[in-house]
Amino acid sequence: MHKILIIEDEIKIAHSLKQILEEEGYSVQAVVTGEEGFFLINTEVFDVVILDLMLPGRSGLEILEALRRRDQQTLVLILTARDTVEDRILGLDGGADDYMIKPFATSELLARIRVLLRRGRSEQIFRLQFGGLDLDLVTREAHRDGQALELTSKEFDLLTYLVRHQGRFVTRGMIARDLWQETTRATPLDNVIDVHMARLRRKIDKDFPEKLLHTIRGVGFIMKKEES
Ligand code: CA
Repeated sequence: MHKILIIEDEIKIAHSLKQILEEEGYSVQAVVTGEEGFFLINTEVFDVVILDLMLPGRSGLEILEALRRRDQQTLVLILTARDTVEDRILGLDGGADDYMIKPFATSELLARIRVLLRRGRSEQIFRLQFGGLDLDLVTREAHRDGQALELTSKEFDLLTYLVRHQGRFVTRGMIARDLWQETTRATPLDNVIDVHMARLRRKIDKDFPEKLLHTIRGVGFIMKKEES
């Protein structure tokens, strides 16, 4: 059974994450101060540490540095607020394996943990590449074949989501839930998603012979190379 440690000072988040992860079959400990987290990473071994950055006592970055000094195996998923993401992430210097911006959907967190456990540690967590697309998740710049793409913030989020799910179907319901934080399905939102998707497709595919973003009628969308 995989062992997960949650270090998060927002008690409600810590407890609900613990419960959800336990329901998924993980062995979970949750602590709400940096000191407790620091103690545990120095005394026990975990497969995954879910680490909030803004903590009382010791900061998430201090904990991460201490962990990495003696352990290169444990997977670390950072939780951070949107307004501090760039500074914080730039300071991580490769010590974390993924990050999520609060508020986040728990389904997305579970998916990320599954990917981390399957994939293991990787060098390039703040860069996504696919079919000539190159996304820098820190600067939020996107290129295709070296050519800069002028994307809005929402389009960048949408593209990141599609690339993370490459080769798999992405439904409008998933996009509504994970990118618009809407759980109830509504036709107006579907139309908004379609408009964003059409603009995104124009920007990433129009000038290139190989199309990457495909609409699957009655299902949603898929990011894939044409031959696959
Ligand atoms: Ca916090």
